[in-house]
Amino acid sequence: MSIINQEGLDFYREIREKSGQPIELCYQCQKCASGCIATEYADFYPNEILRLVQLGQKEKALNCSSIWICSSCETCGARCPNGINTRAVIDVLKEMAIAENMVKEKKVHLFHTTFLNSVRANGRVHEPVMLAIFKLKSKDLFSDLGFGFDMFKKGKMPLLPSRVKNRKILQNIFKQSYQ
Ligand code: SF4
Ligand code: SF4
Repeated sequence: MSIINQEGLDFYREIREKSGQPIELCYQCQKCASGCIATEYADFYPNEILRLVQLGQKEKALNCSSIWICSSCETCGARCPNGINTRAVIDVLKEMAIAENMVKEKKVHLFHTTFLNSVRANGRVHEPVMLAIFKLKSKDLFSDLGFGFDMFKKGKMPLLPSRVKNRKILQNIFKQSYQ
C-alpha cells in the first residue's frame, strides 16, 4: 500500500520543480535544524518541513507557522550534506499558501506586503509610513510604541522618505519579479 496518494504526489512534484531542490535526497540528519535560528518558535523544523513535502502532506506544510517565521538566513542550505536549500522550498510553500488562502501567520504576511509596497513606492523603505500602515491594517496600534520612539530619537525614523532617482528601473524590477 502506498503512503502517498496522487494529490500528495502532485504536491511533492510541484514543490520539487518550482524550488529546484533535490528534496528526495533528504535523509533526516537534522544538520539544518541544529543550525536554524528559528526553531525556538517553529512548529516544524526545516527537516520536518521537507519530510512533510516528501510525504505529500500539503495542508500541514502550507498551513504551518514555520514557513513565515523562517528568516531566509540560508544556514540550513549551507549545512546540508546533500545540497538542499530548504529556504528555496519554504519560499515556494509561502507562495502556494498565499495562492490557496492558507496563510497561518497573517501578521507576518501583512508585514512583508507592507514592506514591499514601501520599497515599490520609493525604492527604499520609509519606516514611519510603513509602520503606520502596518499598525492600522493589523489593528495593533499600541504595541512596540516604545521601540518606535527609541528609533525616532536615534534618527532611524526619518520624517520624509528618501527616493531612488531612477524609478523606471525600480518599476521594471517589480514587474519582472511578479511575472
Ligand atoms: S533559512 Fe529559515 S529554515 Fe533555514 S536555517 Fe534560516 S531560519 Fe531556519
Ligand atoms: S541537513 Fe539536508 S539531509 Fe539533513 S535533514 Fe536537513 S535537509 Fe535533510
